[in-house]
Amino acid sequence: MSLDIKTLVEKYNTPLYVYDFDNITRRYEELKGAFDGKKSLVAYAVKSNSNLAVIRHLAKQGAGADCVSIGEIKRALKAGVERYKIIFSGVGKRDDEIRYALKEQILFINLESEAEMKRVEMIAKEFDMEARISIRVNPNVDPKTHPYISTGLHENKFGVSIDSAKRMYIYAKKSKNLNPIGIHFHIGSQLTELAPIAEACGIVADLVRSLNAIDIDIKFFDVGGGLGVVYDSEVTIKTEAYALAVTQAIKGLDLTIVNEPGRYMMANSGIFLTKVLYEKQNGEKRFVVVDGAMNDLLRPSLYSAYHKIEAVQRDGEKSLADVVGPVCESGDFLGKDVELPIMNHNDILVVHSAGAYGFTMSSNYNTRNRSAEVALMGGEDYLIRQRENFQDQIRLEEACDTSWQS
Ligand SMILES: *Cc1c(COP(=O)(O)O)cnc(C)c1O
Repeated sequence: MSLDIKTLVEKYNTPLYVYDFDNITRRYEELKGAFDGKKSLVAYAVKSNSNLAVIRHLAKQGAGADCVSIGEIKRALKAGVERYKIIFSGVGKRDDEIRYALKEQILFINLESEAEMKRVEMIAKEFDMEARISIRVNPNVDPKTHPYISTGLHENKFGVSIDSAKRMYIYAKKSKNLNPIGIHFHIGSQLTELAPIAEACGIVADLVRSLNAIDIDIKFFDVGGGLGVVYDSEVTIKTEAYALAVTQAIKGLDLTIVNEPGRYMMANSGIFLTKVLYEKQNGEKRFVVVDGAMNDLLRPSLYSAYHKIEAVQRDGEKSLADVVGPVCESGDFLGKDVELPIMNHNDILVVHSAGAYGFTMSSNYNTRNRSAEVALMGGEDYLIRQRENFQDQIRLEEACDTSWQS
C-alpha cells in the first residue's frame, strides 16, 4: 500500500483524499446483510461524504439517501438514487426546499417541529397533494458520545418530545395534506454503546404501538445513523447485535427498518494524504508542518478528534510531534503528540479514517484550494473531484460588477 500511496501522490499531488470503494461495498453489504430477511432500507447519510461518485457507488448497491438540504437531494437524484429511497431530514428546512422535496416525490420528510409540520402542510395544500412525513422523536436518552455530536437529549435542538410527537401524529392523521408514514430518531454520532440505542428503539417502538392503537399506521421505523467506528482503539457495536436490538424492539410490528449510516460507511473507507513541508522546533516542542490543514480536515480542530497519522516509507527513531498545517490559527492541527521519525521535505503522511466528515467539512479558509478526491476500485484509481484552483475560488466575485469601486 505504501508504494501505491507514493504513486498516487505523484499522480494527483497533495493534499489528497483517497477512498476505497471496495471497502464501501463491504460496509454496505455488512449492514444491509445484518437486516437480512427483514424489510429494510439503508439510506446513506450524504452529509458524511457527498461526492457524486460515492453516492452513485452506493446507489448501485441499492442504497437510498438521507439528505439534509436541497443540495443533497439534488446530488442524490443526480447520482441515481431512486426517489422513493430519499429522505429529507434536518432541523431547519426552507420553503423552497420543502417544495422541491414534495415535487420530487421523495420517500418522506422527517419533521423536527410542530411549526415545520404546519409549513409542510401548507405547501402540500398549495400543490393539492399529500405529503408523506415522518416525525423525529427525541427519546431523551444519553448516547454517551461527544457532546457536540450528541443529539438525542432534550437539551439538544433536534426532534420533538414523545408527547408532542403524539399530538403531531394525531393532527397529521386528520390533515388532508399530510400522510404520517414514518417515525424517526437519531440520538448521536460515533456511538459505541448499544444500550442507549436499544433503549431509544424501545421508547420509540412503544410510541408506534400507542399510535397503532388509535389507528395511525406507521410503516417506516427510521433508526437514524450514528454507528461508531474505530479511529483509535474504540470497541464498536457489532452490526448483528445492532440489528438484533432493533428487530427485538419492534417485535410484532410490521415496519420497514431504515438506517442512515454516514460515518459507518465512509470513515475508514478514506484516507487523507499530505506532504511534509518542514520540521521545526519551538523550544522543547517539535512540529511537523504539512501542506494539509484545518480547511481540508476540520475534525481535529473542531472536535479535538483523533486521527491516526503515519509516515510513508520513513523509518528511524520516533519522537512526539504536533502535525500542523499552514493556516493562521493555533487550532490548525491534524494531530497532537504523534510519534514520528524525523521527516524530510516532501515525505508523505497518511491521515487515517478520513472518509467521513473530511472533505465535506472542508473550506477555502486562507484562500486554499480544496483537495482533489480519488477513488480506488478493483486495483485501479479514478479521479472523482478535480483539485480546485484559484480561478474556481474567485469566479463568483469576478462575476460581479466592480464599476461602483472605480
Ligand atoms: C448526521 C446524521 C446521520 C449520520 O450520522 P453518522 O454518525 O455519520 O452515521 C444520520 N441521520 C441524521 C438525521 C443525521 O443528522
